[in-house]
Amino acid sequence: MIITIPKGLVATAPGLLQKVTTKGNKSTYHWKTNYTISNYCILFNIGKYKLAKRMFTTVNGNKVPMEYYVLEENFSQAEKLMDLFEQSTRILEKYFGEYPWVKERIAACETPHLGMEHQTNIAYGNKYRYEKMGGKDFDWLLHHEYGHEWWANKVTNRDWAHMWIQEGICTFGDAMATRELAGEEAYLKRMQQTGRNTQNRYPVVRGEEVDSDSAYIGDIYGKGAFFMHTLRYIMGDDIFSPTLKKLATDPQYTYDNTVVTADVEKLFSGAYGNSLQPVFHLFLYTTDKLEIHVRQTGADKYLVRLLNMDMPLPIDIITDQGKQRLMVDKKGINVSSKTAIQIDPSMFYLKKVIME
Ligand SMILES: [Zn+2]
Repeated sequence: MIITIPKGLVATAPGLLQKVTTKGNKSTYHWKTNYTISNYCILFNIGKYKLAKRMFTTVNGNKVPMEYYVLEENFSQAEKLMDLFEQSTRILEKYFGEYPWVKERIAACETPHLGMEHQTNIAYGNKYRYEKMGGKDFDWLLHHEYGHEWWANKVTNRDWAHMWIQEGICTFGDAMATRELAGEEAYLKRMQQTGRNTQNRYPVVRGEEVDSDSAYIGDIYGKGAFFMHTLRYIMGDDIFSPTLKKLATDPQYTYDNTVVTADVEKLFSGAYGNSLQPVFHLFLYTTDKLEIHVRQTGADKYLVRLLNMDMPLPIDIITDQGKQRLMVDKKGINVSSKTAIQIDPSMFYLKKVIME
């Protein structure tokens, strides 16, 4: 992108700044990226910017410039924001692998609008309104838009129909920041709130090719993230975490390749060792919840079974013996307890418990 502007202003765009030339009262900025880029990320910003800059060493040991183009009047805020930028990079790299654009730069640019995931030029407009997370400062907007460098810019859905892969998993990355900074309990609380906020008016995936108006519903964020939370519980961290990282790092899913929900399902099913297709179908392709039927069969006995799921699933059940993780299927399992039993108390599933 070659952008000519009045001298004294600064233009930012994707990739690396090649040169700035000045003629009379005009400056020309030459920006270039060598990476494939989505068309909506091809964008420039013009402002009275100052550049704050430092070097960042990635998880794989690559040195990448980290830049923040900040409005002159906010220059004193830049160092702190870059500290948070580094904090978010460490968290995102831990879960999703190395920062994707190491041959260019990690960068954000201050904007009048709230934010957007422009590749190597993240728009930041959250006005330094940090929240506390586990006692540490955290900028949710920066973390979310920046998470899209992995989920949107590096792992890209083929069609709007599969937009949850970008927004849902990126939102799960926000929850991983809660986990890293505030701990597992805080993460669970956050996901419970996310689960309660799901709308279930339309399925997350509404076909193979849909327009943006049909695809862009709230549930692609929260319900998509909650779906990752459900998979994490079903598969266990030891299998789930490397599988999710594989989705973000394997060449077949990244950079010039695009993905659909079926690719994600095949990857996770392969890692799990059993088809997870019924789980993907229920939570992404319908608005139904997991139906769990509980029938008291004796003084201290219960039969717990799944009504609308053709595979066994682990479910936490609290009895008078405490919490147990039990495999439940359509035939059902017998549970004994002198006290009333509780099903999935931590909320790993979007569910309907039918007590009889
Ligand atoms: Zn987003």
